[in-house]
Amino acid sequence: MPRRLSLLTPSGRLTLGNLLGALRPMRAAQAGADCFYGISDLHALTTPRSPETLRAAVTEQATLLLAAGLDDSILFRQSQVPAHAELAYLLECVATTGELGRMIQFKEKSRRRESVRTSLFTYPVLMAADILLYRPTRVPVGDDQRQHVELTRDLALRFNATYGEVFTIPEITVPPAGARVMDLADPTRKMSKSGPEAGSITLLDPPEVVRRKVARSVTDSETGPDAVRTDRTAKPGVTNLIDILVACGGSADGIATYGALKTAVTDAVVAELGPLQERYRELAADPAHVAEVYARGAERCREVTGPVLTAARSAMGL
Ligand code: AMP
Repeated sequence: MPRRLSLLTPSGRLTLGNLLGALRPMRAAQAGADCFYGISDLHALTTPRSPETLRAAVTEQATLLLAAGLDDSILFRQSQVPAHAELAYLLECVATTGELGRMIQFKEKSRRRESVRTSLFTYPVLMAADILLYRPTRVPVGDDQRQHVELTRDLALRFNATYGEVFTIPEITVPPAGARVMDLADPTRKMSKSGPEAGSITLLDPPEVVRRKVARSVTDSETGPDAVRTDRTAKPGVTNLIDILVACGGSADGIATYGALKTAVTDAVVAELGPLQERYRELAADPAHVAEVYARGAERCREVTGPVLTAARSAMGL
């Protein structure tokens, strides 16, 4: 079976965008691959947040991944598999400040700030370690992470050339165009777990909150029989609502007004989230079970990553 690896950073509350664009495809992938799904809590430390906030976000995300049906996968917390941090350090000894300084995400996130955490600069190397430890042959990656996965390949090639063949060089593949859910209040930007609350539907929003957010979502001033239609450039808000409706199993056929569209979207989203929230409540009532699933997952990850780390250490002369 091919191996598939995905990490989600607990940098906020998981949104409908995460569900449709990540969790759902991750669940589907379980049928044809050996899946390792991790919570990248170390990556969450690249920007300041309190320990309580981080702990709460990790617990919620851990429970949500299970509630979303990822229980046929190896689920783990990155910080419980020490090989990630250790290999990251070894790879920092192969990476250069020049190439890390060229990372677009670093440039964007550090722009207009005098100083940022060092880990914000080095996190692409941790990401390379995350990937290389599991020896995937292919890494499906969206545009925003492409440069980081190219760096991963560069580091692996350089390491192998300098110290001997340790790493499998992953091939970068383009995932099938998935659902891209836009912010309800500003449909020109992606709905994001670190974005403003008003435009994001989180997976645990109760029905009345979903209703309010959808009701206040931005549309446009067009009226008339054809107003409810897809046009990504001229009608981003309405297009986004139609996309969400369809992704949640509904259809905009026969819907003539924005009011009716919003009602249909609310109903479809509430129906989509209902069973997940129900399962979440059951799991949240049994935190020991959730912790046990992640402890078992981390154990398995330590078995898989141990030999790779040992090979890298030994190749470098440690
Ligand atoms: P992020 O929340 O940006 O760390 O992304 C985690 C995963 O969720 C990635 O696979 C993203 O592609 C996916 N994702 C995040 N936001 C959205 C969105 N608004 N629409 C679709 N997929 C998303």
